[in-house]
Amino acid sequence: MKVFKFGGASVKDAEAVRNVADIINLYEENLVIVVSAMGKTTNAMEEIAEAYFSNDTVNTKRLFADVIDFHKNIIRDLELPKLESIEKIFNELNQKLSQTTTINYDYEYDQIVSFGEVMSTTIIAEYLSSINKNCMWFDARKIIQTSNKYREAKVNWERTKENVFSNIDAYFNVRGNQKIAITQGFIGHNEKGETTTLGREGSDFSASILAWCLNAQEVIIWKDVPGVLNADPKYFDDCKKLNKISFREAIELSYFGASVIHPKTIKPLQNLGIPLFVKSFLKPKEAGTEIQSSLENDTLIPSFIFKQKQILISISPKDFSFIAEDNLSEIFEHFSKNGVKINLMQNSAISFSVCVDNYTSRINKMLKALSNSYSIKYNDGLELLTIRHYDDKTIQQLIANKEVLVEQKSRHTARFVMKID
Ligand code: ASP
Repeated sequence: MKVFKFGGASVKDAEAVRNVADIINLYEENLVIVVSAMGKTTNAMEEIAEAYFSNDTVNTKRLFADVIDFHKNIIRDLELPKLESIEKIFNELNQKLSQTTTINYDYEYDQIVSFGEVMSTTIIAEYLSSINKNCMWFDARKIIQTSNKYREAKVNWERTKENVFSNIDAYFNVRGNQKIAITQGFIGHNEKGETTTLGREGSDFSASILAWCLNAQEVIIWKDVPGVLNADPKYFDDCKKLNKISFREAIELSYFGASVIHPKTIKPLQNLGIPLFVKSFLKPKEAGTEIQSSLENDTLIPSFIFKQKQILISISPKDFSFIAEDNLSEIFEHFSKNGVKINLMQNSAISFSVCVDNYTSRINKMLKALSNSYSIKYNDGLELLTIRHYDDKTIQQLIANKEVLVEQKSRHTARFVMKID
């Protein structure tokens, strides 16, 4: 049994949904199909959640009507009849949006935004059944059990495994032809049965959670790129595909900002040695990238990742004392309390410098608290370049004509904080 994950771009319209069916037709074994919301629906759902939370009834209704239209057009283009299943979901969401909101935005966000995945999987399951695929829809809100941390829920692995066994595994255990279990990425439920989400782009992680629970043979993430590339094709023309890399390399690349796989995806697969393939949904017969245990091929090609909108903050004790364990622990506490993630850090005798994403409001709050004991300087509008398996030629190409503010090198990784010209 294999686990497939289809992201928003791979199910963005009727033609894309037909392509998903064509890909499924290339396989004979049982499949778990994890699907994201269609196209840019999650962004649209976020706008609905915001309008609803600010009691903006007019915009809530307008935005919701757009989302309904978008899905109805896909249903029509797929030549499906009027679907009771999807009407039921529209009604459920309509009911939710007619209630008064609680004061907890993150809770409301999860209850609303999760509908994107519920709608997409319902339509795709109906379509697969209409073309006689042996397919069953599973509600991830009843399977993936999580903590209460709305918008960033942590998985309860044991409970999730039990749920997967009594639902998906039980379905697969009935003998017969190929079975397809279709379910939503990104969403789960807490102990109270309320919907939670795993964080934006979390559907890759959902696929990996299910693969772990079922000890799947492999996972395939279907993307609009031919595999994991050594650079972002949005910015570079001559990107090279990495044919085979280790779990370790994949986790490093995604940690440094390569957006091809959600960083949390790797660990469960690595733990059980389940290979992960990244393949093109446009050229499904091509090999793609294999991510597996062996480190053998990792160093073959330098990979580089640019993170934009960076800010470099230098923090120095006002009393001119050394940067040592005591003040570092105080500084780190401020970062953790305000949810500011450090992308790179460096210290000298009396100064500690960090490069972080520019989340203005969180950073301002944190700097205000730190400014009692520390003097703070910062530069914004920067970019952070990470080169894995660097060589001099690649470094020279990528930093040419740029002003480098911080440079760090370890055996495998070179990093540069630079001004954008
Ligand atoms: N639909 C969610 C998002 O766009 C989850 C995902 O696609 O991975 O973030």
